[in-house]
Amino acid sequence: MKIVVDEEKCVAAGQCVVAAPDVFDQRDEDGIVVLLDENPPPRLAGDVRQAAAVCPALAISIED
Ligand code: SF4
Repeated sequence: MKIVVDEEKCVAAGQCVVAAPDVFDQRDEDGIVVLLDENPPPRLAGDVRQAAAVCPALAISIED
């Protein structure tokens, strides 16, 4: 699993951090998403797919 985030689309909603806190964080200054792990282990795949599904800006892409 490879993850790509689009910082230009991100609206700093933080839903991804709630869904997958091991993979996503937010910048302190403006809340824009920070990708902690672009190749997360399989055990986190469900969390990551959930994060992508709930992101209101569709800023998270998953490339298998
Ligand atoms: S859920 Fe989407 S819009 Fe919100 S911080 Fe994460 S990437 Fe950005």
